[in-house]
Amino acid sequence: MVSGPSGVGKSSVVDVVLERSGATFSVSATTRAPRPGEKDGEDYLFVTDARFDELVAAGELLEWADYGGHRYGTPGAPVLEHIAAGEDVLLDIENVGAHQVRAAYPDAVLLFILPPSLEELERRLRKRGDTSEEDVERRLAVASEQIEDAKATFDHLVVNDDLQTAIYQVLSILG
Ligand code: 5GP
Repeated sequence: MVSGPSGVGKSSVVDVVLERSGATFSVSATTRAPRPGEKDGEDYLFVTDARFDELVAAGELLEWADYGGHRYGTPGAPVLEHIAAGEDVLLDIENVGAHQVRAAYPDAVLLFILPPSLEELERRLRKRGDTSEEDVERRLAVASEQIEDAKATFDHLVVNDDLQTAIYQVLSILG
């Protein structure tokens, strides 16, 4: 699992790591609205609150969590199918969900991507320009908590200062 605060550049790392490692990406369900360029079924399964409730009630999610005022969850069936087929699956999920998955699957690897500093994280988050001011504030508020949690509990920490270096480090960890 790859976690990291919003704006840390996680998607850029994850995209290249997926390409080079051959791992399969777990497409999460979310109640948040698509950002420009995001494709339903590829980046996320964009669902209504009611549909998310159904997925939870039917036990179809491996884990789920609230983040920034929206819900995000991992559909269980595809992950279990890929693992049964001997493939590695990469989950891009936040800390609470990562801990839930680890509780169920102790072999799961928890990797966290750190920003060089909180100031730099804020700069990147604003520069991205696809997140509302309210969301930026909310995301920054949880970032320090996530970082403290990751430092205490995650298996690996990688600082995304230089993108290529971060990609190289993640690939060697997943090796
Ligand atoms: P974003 O809205 O920026 O795409 O994602 C916000 C946060 O939700 C990120 O930290 C991302 O890793 C996390 N996230 C995405 N999918 C899931 C999921 O299925 N479960 C959990 N727990 N977190 C997720």
